[in-house]
Amino acid sequence: MVHTHNNNFESLLEKHHLKKTGPRLKVLSMLSAKNVATSQPDLEGVMNDIDRVTLYRILSAFEEKGIIHKVFDLNGTANYAMCSPACDEDHHHDEHLHFNCTNCKNVYCLDELHLPEIKLPKGFKPDGFTLYASGLCPKCSKPV
Ligand SMILES: [Zn+2]
Ligand SMILES: [Zn+2]
Ligand SMILES: [Zn+2]
Repeated sequence: MVHTHNNNFESLLEKHHLKKTGPRLKVLSMLSAKNVATSQPDLEGVMNDIDRVTLYRILSAFEEKGIIHKVFDLNGTANYAMCSPACDEDHHHDEHLHFNCTNCKNVYCLDELHLPEIKLPKGFKPDGFTLYASGLCPKCSKPV
């Protein structure tokens, strides 16, 4: 998770040749503000001033440019989180473990846990790997 300050969002869009629009900046600040991934329905709720198609286009453009990555939660809902600076257009390097909490349903990016390199048999060309852990997050596993 990259903690980019508000004034850096504009340069981030500039760097990726994306127009600096209000909705784009809003999506970036929303995703950066949380230490967990944000689900698409949650984004839709906050971004109620734009239609779903526009939001969908923003998210796919960001994903394509290597700004955000998609993680699925236990219900198969798409969640989005900021990428590490190592990510670039068409080349994501988000090979860290994701943790799905079964209680609060939050999806955590565990950036410090790098996934081991997995070599597939000859002929398989993977676009990426999905590996996640599930259980209780620190907040939910605390004894009452
Ligand atoms: Zn990425
Ligand atoms: Zn939790
Ligand atoms: Zn992640």
